[in-house]
Amino acid sequence: MVIAIDGPGGVGKSTVSRAVARELGLAYLDTGATYRAATVAVLTAGIDVTDCDAILREVTARSIDYGSNGITLDAVPINAHVRSSEVTAHVSAVSAHAPVRAYIVGLQRRWVHNHGGSAVVEGRDIGTVVFPLADVKIFLTARPEVRAARRAGDFESTGTSIGEIASALAARDDADSSRAASPLRPADDATVIDTSDIDISGVVDRVLDLVATSEDDHT
Ligand code: C5P
Repeated sequence: MVIAIDGPGGVGKSTVSRAVARELGLAYLDTGATYRAATVAVLTAGIDVTDCDAILREVTARSIDYGSNGITLDAVPINAHVRSSEVTAHVSAVSAHAPVRAYIVGLQRRWVHNHGGSAVVEGRDIGTVVFPLADVKIFLTARPEVRAARRAGDFESTGTSIGEIASALAARDDADSSRAASPLRPADDATVIDTSDIDISGVVDRVLDLVATSEDDHT
């Protein structure tokens, strides 16, 4: 079973996806981490983020993997590095290139296949492109000020202001939604859940209900 959980930043995707995976005993894949790892490779090699050919050469020469220790690049864990503001500022540009996406989507599909074909997969285009036949498709949203406040909680110790966080989120939404290749948008058959006024356990329960309904439909 594949459960696709898409949506912009700050909607609670990771927390919800991890909790759903734990409840159901499924593997969990954070596809944003794979694009962030590609961005680490590109930035450390000093490659221009507009140079698609050079990016593709670099990314295909490195090994990106996701496991119980989180995301690795050439088997080295880079969990903290992928969350840096420099990587966050460049990841949308790197992930906008269609050939780069095609390569990384291949990695993501193989990862799920290698985990028995069952996983909770979190991202931007999982229900639309990566797993269009996913058993359950969820698209999470939340009001912009709620998302910025949640991200401010994640960045508490770094001293970034809520205004800076809100504008960085808005810029990334804009880039991710307006790109030609696999833009951020709900699949036609996704269930959209606005998480602004629901706590995490409420959202998790809602997703688990949808999974149970889909299992009933298949029996
Ligand atoms: O989810 P996260 O914030 O880690 O994603 C980082 C970036 O990776 C997104 O802003 C987007 O540019 C890209 N991404 C993507 N497709 C996905 C997941 C992430 O383009 N499935």
